[in-house]
Amino acid sequence: MERIYLDYAATTPCASEVVAAMLPFFSDRFGNPASMHAFGQENKGAVEEARERIASFLGAAPGEIVFTSGGTESNNTAVKGVAYARQGKGNHIITSPIEHHAVLEPCHFLEKEGFEITILPVDGDGLVDPDDVRKTITGKTILISVMHANNEIGTIQPIEEIGRIARERGVYFHTDAVQTLGHLPFTVGELHVDLLSASAHKLYGPKGVGILFVKKGTRLTPFMHGGEQENRRRASTHNVPGIVGFAKAVELASEGMETEVRELTALRDRLITGLREGIEAVKLNGHSTRRLPNNVNISVAHVEGEGLLLSLDMLGIACSTGSACSSASLEPSHVLMALGLPHELAHGSLRFSLGRPTTAADIDRLLAVLPPVVQRLRAMSPLYNQQNK
Ligand SMILES: *Cc1c(COP(=O)(O)O)cnc(C)c1O
Repeated sequence: MERIYLDYAATTPCASEVVAAMLPFFSDRFGNPASMHAFGQENKGAVEEARERIASFLGAAPGEIVFTSGGTESNNTAVKGVAYARQGKGNHIITSPIEHHAVLEPCHFLEKEGFEITILPVDGDGLVDPDDVRKTITGKTILISVMHANNEIGTIQPIEEIGRIARERGVYFHTDAVQTLGHLPFTVGELHVDLLSASAHKLYGPKGVGILFVKKGTRLTPFMHGGEQENRRRASTHNVPGIVGFAKAVELASEGMETEVRELTALRDRLITGLREGIEAVKLNGHSTRRLPNNVNISVAHVEGEGLLLSLDMLGIACSTGSACSSASLEPSHVLMALGLPHELAHGSLRFSLGRPTTAADIDRLLAVLPPVVQRLRAMSPLYNQQNK
């Protein structure tokens, strides 16, 4: 059985060109970029070249790119780094309830340290209203953090508008762009952001390497203390293969993005249409048009997402769910709950995230196998049988 992977929002495989670009840096070109000899200086050159490529892709200056260990570190650095650097000015941070845990948890941590966190509402599609941001800013607000596109439901936020408001009011603005860098065209200038997080493994690069864009002049307390790497903004020896691989992934994305957006959008819509035709009482979660080209998130009434996921896995199809009853928490996804979904629908959710290798045949196979799985699980559900007697 050929297995089909539809979980590209969780991680992507490294493109073969990325692996090829990285390989020499594991062995022959092993020098530490901080070393003064030729081994080191050549690799410093490779790191700086990668920085320039990524900066230019984002419309940033090379000095505004800080390499990190991934999206989680970038988000932590942005939130806590600004909080500590600006605590003399204020202690108020604004964010949304559907952020990745790598933003929400640092916020919760800061709350315990005396910072004040406002969690804005979102509408039923997961959108933040820029007017709410405007009304929530006080003289003590030091940071607004709203993600570019949500990893679970695919909703794309009005980042430009929020950015403009933040700039007018002199408040730093951070966006988690882990799901959009290399997937949607944008520059940091267009988004009006001061800080932006991204991660290589979400765009066919390696795991364990990310960037934080830090607009020139933005004050930030470093998260890691140690050596003087990254202009003292992030200590530790550079992950040279990872950084080189990240730049290669960005290069590939910049070449193929337009085609990819078009092709994935068509596949996404084929899947959405097919699911609506094939399954009764299925709900699309997230915005219908302001949506990542590769994201389909549905709730299937009267069944558990986990049961669906495991059944699909046995049939060779990998996806994800916002409901995980066997994990430590019995709570369904914080994102789906923030949309105001009833518990039952939040528990019956599935996310399919498509990627470069996804074909129409993959989508059609999913559309062929999922409806009978839903039927079988519904037949076993007492709730469903009661309501449909
Ligand atoms: C994957 C992801 C992260 C975490 O990135 P890592 O590199 O895995 O630490 C953060 N935010 C979003 C939106 C993500 O999808």
